Amino acid sequence: MAPPPASSSTGPLAIVRTPADLRARVAAWRKEGLRVGLVPTMGALHEGHLTLVKRARELADRVVASVFVNPTQFGPNEDFSRYPRDEAGDARLLAGAGCDLLYAPGVEAIYPPGFTTTVDVGPVAVPLEGHFRPGHFQGVATVVTKLLLQALPDVACFGQKDYQQLAVIRRLAADLDIPVRIEGVPTVREADGLALSSRNRYLSAEERQQAVAISRVLNQLRDTLGDGSRPVAPAITQATETLTAAGFTRIDYVAVVDAGTLAPLERVDRPARALVAAFLGRTRLIDNLALGPGA
Ligand code: AMP
Repeated sequence: MAPPPASSSTGPLAIVRTPADLRARVAAWRKEGLRVGLVPTMGALHEGHLTLVKRARELADRVVASVFVNPTQFGPNEDFSRYPRDEAGDARLLAGAGCDLLYAPGVEAIYPPGFTTTVDVGPVAVPLEGHFRPGHFQGVATVVTKLLLQALPDVACFGQKDYQQLAVIRRLAADLDIPVRIEGVPTVREADGLALSSRNRYLSAEERQQAVAISRVLNQLRDTLGDGSRPVAPAITQATETLTAAGFTRIDYVAVVDAGTLAPLERVDRPARALVAAFLGRTRLIDNLALGPGA
């Protein structure tokens, strides 16, 4: 049986802010023979993040969540400065979900003066988000590599909500021989299908209604294309029109790709993923769904 959590679920959560303090905590657990799980986040936590914490608790004896709004993964015209921040609220939610330690470093703890190294994982980071958010995955890959090496967890949990990000992280962990299990956790959704996201709080009441169109078109793509009998291209055109009609102001992509390589498919004749990125006003939403064999 797994040992009880380090803190009671109602007590205040311990917080560390430097790699050295994080390492000291984790080293003490390791000395006791405990398995450690890591859940990297940017805060503004919701039930999706807490599901990652619960999954990490199933796979490890102690769980560290990190909250770090990583400046290097935001483009110059993106929402870094207005990204929601609520450390006290996050700490309460994490404690309730069974988290043992919050790692909340400042920017200078992660990127001290003189820092220049970046991690570039190559092809899997190039299309889709990589195309529309230049530099984004280099920022993600670099910070996740640092977090994995700082915490040295046995397992790290990431959401399938950010499907390409998960593929990028699997690649870097394998390529850099980081001895960690990367666990992909299914997307947590609202009752109407909208994927939970910290950015949903930017949506007006009307946009919140319109947002559900993303999960609807993903379900339609799965139903239309999943048995491999129909070509992908017309279904993508149809899905794009549906999003435009629903009020999306800019559609970065609607794509159906190989689930492993993320290469575009003409027909769903193998495990695949449908992915959407689109704007409602200033708010960019992304979502994805498995389709094809095994889905
Ligand atoms: P973020 O704070 O947005 O960087 O997300 C931190 C982690 O939570 C990432 O691994 C995300 O994929 C994951 N995540 C975000 N939203 C959801 C969701 N609705 N369901 C499951 N995981 C999620």
